[in-house]
Amino acid sequence: MKSFDPPRRILMGPGPSDVSPRVLAALSRPTVGHLDPAFQGLMEEIKDALSRLMNAPGYACLPLPAPGTAGMEAAIMNLLEPGDVAAVAVNGQFGERMVDMAGRAGAEVLRIEHDWGTPVDAQKVADALKGRKVKTLGFVHAETSTGALSDPGPLCAIAREAGALTIVDCVTSLGGVPVDAAGWDADVIYSGTQKCLSAPPGLSPFAMSPRAREAVSGRKEKARNWLLDMGLIMSYWGGEGGRTYHHTAPINALYGLHEALVVIEEEGLAAAHARHRAMHEALVAGLEAAGLSLLVAPGNRLPQLNAVKVPDGIDEAQVRSRMLAKYSLEIGAGLGPLKGQIWRIGLMGASATPWHVRLCLTALTEALAAQNYPDAGKAALAAAEAKLG
Ligand code: PLP
Repeated sequence: MKSFDPPRRILMGPGPSDVSPRVLAALSRPTVGHLDPAFQGLMEEIKDALSRLMNAPGYACLPLPAPGTAGMEAAIMNLLEPGDVAAVAVNGQFGERMVDMAGRAGAEVLRIEHDWGTPVDAQKVADALKGRKVKTLGFVHAETSTGALSDPGPLCAIAREAGALTIVDCVTSLGGVPVDAAGWDADVIYSGTQKCLSAPPGLSPFAMSPRAREAVSGRKEKARNWLLDMGLIMSYWGGEGGRTYHHTAPINALYGLHEALVVIEEEGLAAAHARHRAMHEALVAGLEAAGLSLLVAPGNRLPQLNAVKVPDGIDEAQVRSRMLAKYSLEIGAGLGPLKGQIWRIGLMGASATPWHVRLCLTALTEALAAQNYPDAGKAALAAAEAKLG
């Protein structure tokens, strides 16, 4: 065996995004023991920073030791017991994953179907919940499979009225658009580190409201997962009355998350959101000047995930391979019913810069022109430049 030397890539797919050199440097700092007082100080800082980032005062906030899917699994397995009814709004791949997990938790699943590419519709959800005894309502804030943004406030209000707890997937939204646990009155919010936080994958920021904590401690039977049993994890992260060993925290990964949180606080959350929006507007202007169109209607688009329709007659996989080979630039393909129909261009965290927008438009228009699509590189760059100012 030899040491692994990865190729240098520019990551503009659905995640992971580019990891900043500051975060990479933090990851390589000396490992300490997970019960070391210095490390416990870092754990406290991470909890506080997550609470600010998600606007979750009074919530239990911590990073779970596994990727975004762990947040989904922790939420579902801790809140649901066999026989409960779990409503899930499905408007893409990740709502679909929630349905699968809720079924595995032994819940009766009430699917609330939507077309892929549309946001979750509050009226549809209200109609589906009417007259039902529902334990949870799950939905995805930022559907990475389609690029659609949903509005959690009204959905959480409907759930509250129906007596249901809410599970809000914020894997792709956190850091790119406002996430407002308290303002939405949400119960569980989870995210991932590899999207707009620009840390490597492997951790899942998680926030749980006092109401959700009460529901977890009032369970009739123990949660069926051990690692992600929130009662056990909180005795490790809680810090009240001393920490009890539960697992060994991924120490260096937490150095990386800590640095990513420092970076975002230095920039300012509002400034980070504005940067994502500005880069999205420049990219879309460039794409439209090249004759391309987006899957999602203008008011419902995620700035950080742009689903671009593949023009007729274009081999979409060949476009992606050429961009990777020539520019070392990764963009994503479509999933499920959108396979072969869209590209997914991420503008997440450190990958949301004018340089990334310019490079992507250059590489994409060139790859299209190589398949006899009209050469639109100059027009695309001029349109983006006009927005970048
Ligand atoms: N939810 C959404 C909306 C996602 O985009 C993803 C990953 O892309 C996940 C959940 C799962 O996260 P992970 O791949 O980190 O487990």
